[in-house]
Amino acid sequence: MKLYEYARKINHKIKKYKKEKAGKFLSPVRKIEKFAPVLGDKKYIAMTFDDGPMNLPPNPENENYKEYNSLTKVIIEIMKEYNANGTFNVVGSTEDNYPDKKGDLHGTKWGGVMNDHYPKYNEDKNGGAFNQSKLVKDLIDNGHEISSHGYVHKLFGPNKLIYGSRDHLKNINEVYRDLQRLHELFIERYNYDITLSRPPHYIDKIPDGYDSYDAYALMKYDYLAASFDGGGWLPSTGDYDKDVKKMVDPLKNALEKNPDALNGQIIFQKDGYNMSEMTPVCHALPQHLKILKDKGYEVVTVSKLRKLSPFEDIKTDDDYIKNIVDLDSKGYVIGYKNNTFKPNKLLSQGEMLTMTLTKEIWSSFLMKKIHDKSFKKNYKKNPYYLTYSYYNLLDHYNKWNEEVNSDDMQNLFQKIGIDKDIKSFNKIKRKDYVEILNK
Ligand SMILES: [Zn+2]
Repeated sequence: MKLYEYARKINHKIKKYKKEKAGKFLSPVRKIEKFAPVLGDKKYIAMTFDDGPMNLPPNPENENYKEYNSLTKVIIEIMKEYNANGTFNVVGSTEDNYPDKKGDLHGTKWGGVMNDHYPKYNEDKNGGAFNQSKLVKDLIDNGHEISSHGYVHKLFGPNKLIYGSRDHLKNINEVYRDLQRLHELFIERYNYDITLSRPPHYIDKIPDGYDSYDAYALMKYDYLAASFDGGGWLPSTGDYDKDVKKMVDPLKNALEKNPDALNGQIIFQKDGYNMSEMTPVCHALPQHLKILKDKGYEVVTVSKLRKLSPFEDIKTDDDYIKNIVDLDSKGYVIGYKNNTFKPNKLLSQGEMLTMTLTKEIWSSFLMKKIHDKSFKKNYKKNPYYLTYSYYNLLDHYNKWNEEVNSDDMQNLFQKIGIDKDIKSFNKIKRKDYVEILNK
């Protein structure tokens, strides 16, 4: 097994531990890997495409799409044929990531030793949203969603195991500026408001002690992950047909075993060359889409799927879903960092207050405090420190983990200027609180 495959495996175990930990606190930024299955007649899946757009032809070409000289354009045409929509994690441009050296083909540094270059070394201008306006416009006009993959696709921090030689960003200012640069490009050029982002190579830790979640909180983004690997990023086996089969089989087998297995899931795909500068996605994608169609799936953007099923752990046919979707689309901080909602958990005081905040409020308050060392120390230990600071309620902070009764709720609501009719109760579940909040 190759090191980067092995790393993904270990990552899996660390990820599981981290995920449980991430279920402790509500967060304005949720790591979205998948959603609960959408119950009803239809099944839904989201597809995400990384590192594009790319204005170089596929390698090898797919005969059926020979007239297009751009991989992204071919993907758009394939998706159109199957009535499918995707979420594209685009970069701004890697053209300034020089001086650099081209790395070895088939390895993780195939695109460059110090930095990534998309779609390939010395061809940066044929990729990225900045230089490929027409492709971006085509994506948006065809109903696809745009998500941010960072303007220059530099790692947010060091990664010794695989990307030891790589240049990386140094602090949260640099990460924020890079994200903001791509965000503004989309507002100015396309009047398009990005809401999701995936860090380059999933590196989260920023060297100054902050992380991707903090940067995304400033941006009012959610963290877009994935639950199923389409496989198009891996190096060639040396046999192209085998490469395509290697991408198609896992999806085919999963659905043959259980046709519902991918309902609510998010697939990772590559809008670009793999490590061997080939594009098996070009032949595997039509097969993926055909299999999904035959099994009754609709392929939609991540944001559309989220409106049908906002969290990982709720039943989409329950009545309280409407309130959750409402509050979620207004940007209220209602869910845990690991994209769970825990509807039956008893509401704590910290949660009660935090759920009255929006991403907007969180972002502007964090922005004010981002260089305040004592704030940072407390905030990194317990994010509700921000909530209590914002409301000037630090004298209540030690009760953050205590359950709420109706007197506490009345009292705290009064202090923060919220006026709601509350019936008397001793304890309240989170799913019942969203009804009060959304009234
Ligand atoms: Zn990437």
